[in-house]
Amino acid sequence: MARTPTTQQLKDWDRRYLWHPFTQMREWEQEEPLIIERGKGSYLIDTEGKKYLDGTSSIWVNLHGHRHPTLDRAIKKQLDKIAHSTFLGLSNPPAIELARELIRIAPKGLTRVFYSDNGSTAVEIALKMAVQYWQQQHPETGPKHTFLHLKLAYHGDTIGAVSVGNIDLFHARFKPLLFPTVEVEPPHCYRCPLKLTYPSCNIACMEPIADILKNRHRELAGVIIEPIMQAAAGMIPQPPGYLKRIRELCTQYKVLLIVDEVATGFGRTGKMFACEHEGVTPDLMALSKGLTGGYMPLAATLTTDAIYQGFLGRYDEFKTFFHGHSFTGNPLGCSVALANLHVFRQEKTLARLATKIKFFSRLLAPLAAIPRVGDIRQRGFMVGIELVKEKTTKAPYPLSAKVGHRVSAIARSKGLILRPIGNVLVLMPPLSISKGELKKTVEILKQSIETLQINSYSNDDTHNNR
Ligand SMILES: *Cc1c(COP(=O)(O)O)cnc(C)c1O
Repeated sequence: MARTPTTQQLKDWDRRYLWHPFTQMREWEQEEPLIIERGKGSYLIDTEGKKYLDGTSSIWVNLHGHRHPTLDRAIKKQLDKIAHSTFLGLSNPPAIELARELIRIAPKGLTRVFYSDNGSTAVEIALKMAVQYWQQQHPETGPKHTFLHLKLAYHGDTIGAVSVGNIDLFHARFKPLLFPTVEVEPPHCYRCPLKLTYPSCNIACMEPIADILKNRHRELAGVIIEPIMQAAAGMIPQPPGYLKRIRELCTQYKVLLIVDEVATGFGRTGKMFACEHEGVTPDLMALSKGLTGGYMPLAATLTTDAIYQGFLGRYDEFKTFFHGHSFTGNPLGCSVALANLHVFRQEKTLARLATKIKFFSRLLAPLAAIPRVGDIRQRGFMVGIELVKEKTTKAPYPLSAKVGHRVSAIARSKGLILRPIGNVLVLMPPLSISKGELKKTVEILKQSIETLQINSYSNDDTHNNR
């Protein structure tokens, strides 16, 4: 075995050989990369032994904490049998058992599981299934292959997922590669484009969606939406009744509802799936992030019997769904996902979460008094805190001021890892976080917001702000 590299060597090699996601590498090369070596519960531990609260659940994936004994054991046990075998033409026990469990807990009416390895592919699969389903369903009618989605939507970074997304900063450059879609304004209550207030607005922003479905349903294969909360948009919640109404419209106009629960699934919003808040069963549902408790890359696209049946036929009818990945149904991932669901039952995660969510709200409430806090948006254990230059006008800080980034840097020096979205500070702690740790998380965040010195910044790039 080679000698363990020193922290300094690792930092040098990182800056020399790596290209990090969503990162301006010129800045990265000037900074000291933080190198995480271990984890325990709600904490990340760097190569020097320094501990940090994992305020993002390692980008929204971790649920029961790091090094959970049940999850650790599940992987080790599976490793003693086999790490991977293909799902093309073969099957394996953990993938079979997990599918059964997922169908047991999924919204009623979802009956089939198709595996892949990340949230983007789970979305791609849903889109492709929808398009192929309609081709096989009504070959005589015109092509039904367009999708309706919300502006500011984020469904992943592969080309199909980007096509149904709309975050300018991430997506604009790839326009030439994207397929055309239909977009509508999301229900952004803090900055309502209609200048109305909920509930007196009666969810007026639903009207354009109803109109589009009425007029263009013949070309629409599906509506895709992040239910309850548009996460990567900067934590934009939907008013109660919104998702349910979309479900009704989709049913009425025979358009498939694709729900992207990649961020919201597995307890994040307080229920196992966000759809449950509205009693909605989608036609297709994409899952990933929390599926393995944040341990392994695994994803699943769930669908109904009606869609599944639409793909059955003689071999030479070629109704087969020609899609798959090298690591589809990976046994290690499926084993730890099964253990994840086991922990939910064993530790009564959701029941205990309910009181923690209320506690979290109480901790967050006083932050509203800070002059530069414009809005606090919470759905369960998903929180966005929007910083504004001026509270009354909601005038945003220019992106060049990097306020979210700078607050996060202060928080890191105080032992809390955050990853902001522009001017929105995001808190997504593991569901297992203790009340004491949660208190500490919010306390550090509060101090960091208050400490930030803002004196000068270029003031001409507010156009990029949402
Ligand atoms: C993270 C995310 C994705 C993409 O998942 P990856 O595993 O990063 O590809 C898709 N949809 C939503 C809502 C997400 O939050």
